[in-house]
Amino acid sequence: MTHDVHIIGGGLAGSEAAWQLAQRGAKVRLSEMRGGGSTTPAHHTDGLAELVCSNSFRSDDDEKNAVGLLHHEMRRLDSLIMRAGEVARVPAGSAMAVDRELFSREVQQALEAHPNIGIVRERVDTLPSAGLTIIATGPLTAATLAESIGQATGADSLAFFDAIAPIVHRDSIDMDVCWMAARWDKGGKDYINCPMTKEQYLAFVQGLIDGEKGSFKEWEANTPYFEGCMPIEVMAERGVETLRFGPMKPVGLDNPHAATPEHPNGRWPYAVVQLRQDNKLGTLWNMVGFQTKLKHGEQVRLFRTIPGLENAEFARLGGMHRNTFLNSPTLLDRQLRLRSAPHIRFAGQITGCEGYVESSAVGLLAGMMAATELAGHDWTPPPPTSACGALLAHITGDAEAADYQPMNVNFGLFPPLPEVRKKQRKEAYTERAKEDFSGWLTQLEAVPA
Ligand SMILES: Cc1cc2nc3c(=O)[nH]c(=O)nc-3n(C[C@H](O)[C@H](O)[C@H](O)COP(=O)(O)OP(=O)(O)OC[C@H]3O[C@@H](n4cnc5c(N)ncnc54)[C@H](O)[C@@H]3O)c2cc1C
Repeated sequence: MTHDVHIIGGGLAGSEAAWQLAQRGAKVRLSEMRGGGSTTPAHHTDGLAELVCSNSFRSDDDEKNAVGLLHHEMRRLDSLIMRAGEVARVPAGSAMAVDRELFSREVQQALEAHPNIGIVRERVDTLPSAGLTIIATGPLTAATLAESIGQATGADSLAFFDAIAPIVHRDSIDMDVCWMAARWDKGGKDYINCPMTKEQYLAFVQGLIDGEKGSFKEWEANTPYFEGCMPIEVMAERGVETLRFGPMKPVGLDNPHAATPEHPNGRWPYAVVQLRQDNKLGTLWNMVGFQTKLKHGEQVRLFRTIPGLENAEFARLGGMHRNTFLNSPTLLDRQLRLRSAPHIRFAGQITGCEGYVESSAVGLLAGMMAATELAGHDWTPPPPTSACGALLAHITGDAEAADYQPMNVNFGLFPPLPEVRKKQRKEAYTERAKEDFSGWLTQLEAVPA
């Protein structure tokens, strides 16, 4: 079968993109290396859309939860992943969990049965030089193709490890304790600073050393990570002062809350935790240098002992994993196309979204975009107030590119609703999202196929 679009990678994103294109009449070649002699260190089967770890699509609550809202929007867009998930669903309270074998089989059967899709079990080693292409090869992209992507995008633009520092919702930080400033007052007051006394610092360092940690998988241990991305607990183990000379350095940071007549600008605290703005909206702030392998529960407990973060709400917790991903905000345009080679789109986790559902959603959008391009129509993006739109906007330009790290969907990516009381915030976000998303769907339906 000759094809209109070549999709490389038959995981969650590639399978969803193939479905969206095929349903819109485009002929698709779907290349998947598993079943063709290659595999990844995490996959166990040759099935399309294999879930490599947990069997959960997380919360299915579309009234109070951003990922639940994403489920809702994907269902409205006839998502194959959500449809197969429904068939394979197993009880999991308000979460959506699936029987992984049944789920993968459902996806594969739907794609195999589709007259517009040809599935080829082959590994693709270089970026195609022409023809509409979607690269959806995921966090464990085969090394040969990763090299080709690296050549096309520049050596520093493709990461092989995520080193995620926790990200905090701005409105959960206590600014009666923290203050905004840059070191030595250079530049703007760009950082939120959390001050620590000597006792607090020593207890914190001990907490890092004692805290329960996750371990690197054997195949991850062989992937080098930069010294600059060292987990914070490893720094703590190197010596009690290491952090005070590293990410928790207090020098040049006068704390105005500690001002006295003698020191009207305040004094330097014993140690400081700094947070830097993480998205253009200013709703998310990352804890600078705090990448960690501490278990999630331990992170919440320990990081809430930091002055000013006692009530911190985390948009995501820290982590370090093997993960191939692009610096999408700089490399991709708003339609997920490589700026330097616009016949190539990227989709799924390789774009720097994180999670099964997010990867599938970005695959879905990439499929829709490619179909629109094939039909010669203009693309209207989903509204940024919707889950699909907020995630897409983050990946394609709204995230801070300098320290871009993979991100789950969360309400911090949505344009803020300042007038809403904090307690009703989530409901207000989902209500606005549903209304705007419906308007977008109506607009799409008005475009001839
Ligand atoms: C070890 C691990 C555990 C994870 N656990 C979870 C979890 O529990 N929950 C969660 O929500 N997310 C998890 N993720 C994150 C992420 O959501 C999943 O990896 C998700 O599968 C990403 O979807 P994707 O379609 O982008 O990539 P994938 O689902 O990995 O699909 C990519 C596909 O491309 C194929 N491929 C790769 N290179 C080539 C090539 N050169 N030619 C042809 N085919 C190729 C692969 O075989 C694969 O089938 C995990 C990631 C990893 C690495």
